[in-house]
Amino acid sequence: MKRVVVIGGGVVGASAAYHLARNGVETILADRRDAGHATGAGAGIISPGTSTRPLPAFFPFARDAVDHYPDMVDRLAEIGQASTGYEVAGELILAKTDEEFANLPALKALYAERRAGGMPNLGEVTDVDEATARQMFPTLGPIHGALHVPEAARVDGDSLRNALVAGAKHHGAEIRYGAASLRTERDRVTGVDLDGVRIEADGVIVATGAWTNALLDPIGLSVAVGPQRGQILHIDMGDTDTSRWPILGGTGEQYMLTFGPNRIVSGATRETGSGFDVRLTVGGLQLVFDHAMRVAPGVAQGTVKEIRIGLRPLSADGLPYLGRVPGHDRLVLATGHGPSGLQLGPYSGVIAAQLLLDEEVTTDLSAFAVDRDPRQNAYNGH
Ligand SMILES: Cc1cc2nc3c(=O)[nH]c(=O)nc-3n(C[C@H](O)[C@H](O)[C@H](O)COP(=O)(O)OP(=O)(O)OC[C@H]3O[C@@H](n4cnc5c(N)ncnc54)[C@H](O)[C@@H]3O)c2cc1C
Repeated sequence: MKRVVVIGGGVVGASAAYHLARNGVETILADRRDAGHATGAGAGIISPGTSTRPLPAFFPFARDAVDHYPDMVDRLAEIGQASTGYEVAGELILAKTDEEFANLPALKALYAERRAGGMPNLGEVTDVDEATARQMFPTLGPIHGALHVPEAARVDGDSLRNALVAGAKHHGAEIRYGAASLRTERDRVTGVDLDGVRIEADGVIVATGAWTNALLDPIGLSVAVGPQRGQILHIDMGDTDTSRWPILGGTGEQYMLTFGPNRIVSGATRETGSGFDVRLTVGGLQLVFDHAMRVAPGVAQGTVKEIRIGLRPLSADGLPYLGRVPGHDRLVLATGHGPSGLQLGPYSGVIAAQLLLDEEVTTDLSAFAVDRDPRQNAYNGH
């Protein structure tokens, strides 16, 4: 494979470009930098072992994806790209009601079972009382109890993406900004047009997130992926050092996490059917502020630093699309990571590159096939 174009410079495309360039492939990463690209808004929780919603096929893939992280982060650091925000911060699974408290033993047993089955980044889960939880997360409100998951991690999606792009460049990739479309000749994809400039390629990876169907339309393909808006609040806690505080989970669809030196992130809305509308809405703001104040009322003294908005590329069954496009053996699709793209995406990028390079792929991808019918396993995006 001489030259590959990767379309889409989110975490998935950046990872694919980095892997290709590291392997000596002439690589061009083409990105339109759309407002609302998901990677810049992603919260960054890496804790698939505590998820209760996804389909079974999610878990073995997530296991490999999480295993991939430490190596990737170390390799990036070796070339001077150490700033990814990746850290094993631990997670508190909070019980805020009697019912949730009664459910903690079942969750603890589930996590132990997953850990025994090989799921990493859980560790030895322990019970934690309210006072201990508040020592760990000082702005926390009243709770009935919690579980502590010591090996859950987090990452700063935008920093990781930037590090991967810089890593790709370091290994010789070229980064071009603009709108790409697929070039075809006699039903074969032969390259890309980038703002009208023709780029011949031996292979193309499509990692265009929520915008994927517009790109695939000219080849008569569509996948069940659409934008799901997420609005997410960033709070500046002034002199308070939040860098070692754990992730807060177990509060329904909402969560909180922190980054150093003083940032708390609280999110997020899950607006399925939002379309490509990246407005900040009154209802969205109310939801994230209410959550922050209910779970950790001590944030009231913080300053609103920013509200980010991203469009998750949500698939109908909640699983990614990752594989060769039928009928186009030099075209690989990597999208549809929905709410899990920061945990899964870096690894998906590697696999997309491996598929194009005909390298051995050890992870089972059958559930992620481009031509599956995801509506058989409908997922509501929550
Ligand atoms: C509020 C929020 C919270 C989240 N929290 C988490 C979390 O805690 N953990 C987790 O794992 N995941 C989380 N996610 C999900 C995660 O952020 C996404 O799944 C992931 O970032 C998707 O990456 P991507 O590369 O597929 O897409 P994107 O980051 O959207 O990138 C796609 C890129 O393709 C470009 N593009 C599109 N069409 C073209 C074209 N024709 N030509 C050139 N470029 C094009 C776009 O401009 C964009 O830059 C969250 C997402 C949101 C919004």
